[in-house]
Amino acid sequence: MMPSFSRRKILAAGAAGGALTATAAAHAAGVFGNPDLPPQGQMNATAGAFADPGPQNAVMEAQIPAFANPPATDVGGMAQLWSSFSIAPKRVQAGGWARQVTTADFPISTTIAGVNMRLGPGGIRELHWHQQAEWAIMTYGHCRVTAVDQNGHAFVDDVAAGDLWYFPAGLPHSLQGIGPDGCEFVICFDNGAASEDNTLLVTDWFAHTPPEVLAKNFGVPQSAFANIPLQDRWIFQGKEPGPLAADVQAILPDAGPVPNPFTFHLSASTPVKQNSNGMIQLADSTNFKAAITVAAALVTVKPGAMREMHWHPNAAEWQYYIKGKARMTVFNTGPQAATIDFNPGDIGYVPKSFGHYVENTGNEDLVLVAVFRTDKYAEVALADWMAHTPPAMVEQTLNLSAETVAKFARRPQGIVPA
Ligand code: MN
Ligand code: MN
Repeated sequence: MMPSFSRRKILAAGAAGGALTATAAAHAAGVFGNPDLPPQGQMNATAGAFADPGPQNAVMEAQIPAFANPPATDVGGMAQLWSSFSIAPKRVQAGGWARQVTTADFPISTTIAGVNMRLGPGGIRELHWHQQAEWAIMTYGHCRVTAVDQNGHAFVDDVAAGDLWYFPAGLPHSLQGIGPDGCEFVICFDNGAASEDNTLLVTDWFAHTPPEVLAKNFGVPQSAFANIPLQDRWIFQGKEPGPLAADVQAILPDAGPVPNPFTFHLSASTPVKQNSNGMIQLADSTNFKAAITVAAALVTVKPGAMREMHWHPNAAEWQYYIKGKARMTVFNTGPQAATIDFNPGDIGYVPKSFGHYVENTGNEDLVLVAVFRTDKYAEVALADWMAHTPPAMVEQTLNLSAETVAKFARRPQGIVPA
């Protein structure tokens, strides 16, 4: 280990720093907007030092400018909080495709695994079940979903863009793209390690059961099963189903419907917050009663406006960016602060209780869905905390004037103006 006196000398020499220009040196101190010692950020570097002679992937760098040039307020080495379905290979079969981002690709996302799936018209995701609960949001087209619960209660419904479904862990279900152009959606499993390639498929079970057992189980001759598929289908091309009413009639007569519907019209729900800057729509077990392990917020932010600084005390936030451009900074103890840019199709993750905001940095509406592994949505807004703490406490802590603190919003706005 280097003796402490010589280490001090080296630090002093570095701070005097021949490499820093006069302008950069003026910034090189712990000041507002440039808090770190040693300072971090472009404002503290010469043009030559900041340059990136390369090589580099210019297209990818342009997607996330905050990685190439973080704000001077960023600090520390936070785990990667960005991913995207665009970096996940598709598994393509007749009838559709799927791709996924799980902890294998995105280690921080321990609570949620994401799957992006397309089913063309008539395309079927075969009858199956899994050990995790499955929550999903439709992003395009139309889909027919079926499920049965442990009491034989049956469910079938058609969903469209903006709708959700939720299948409790272990309950069997199927999905099918319907007219005019099938569907696309994003599934969230309530376990980050879950995989769409690791589901219990009805075709596999039939093929891997002795024929005499199948015959005994269903009370029909073995020969009735002579043509079952010997390999699983996973996704395959089917025929478009008939009218929904006919399917309802076919499945309900015995045990009746499930007690709580497995689908919910999130984008048509009354916003919990709405103003000229955007809106927030919520679905958790209080209004989407079936969804006992997953809550979601559909967030719309107008250009320049911002989802206010807040955190979630009870769950990590898994984000899917549906429309527009966004910039988020995530804050943790350390201090650590990481700024990230997002485009449609990207995924973000905010560990439980880490502070964050999401700013619309584009010129159209920003739409994202935030998904939480919890039965009830919860957030704490920074402005709400500051406004409902004795003013003297806030003033002394942050060196703020009484006049400034008195201006803080008394009610959380959810989304604040540009
Ligand atoms: Mn499933
Ligand atoms: Mn949030």
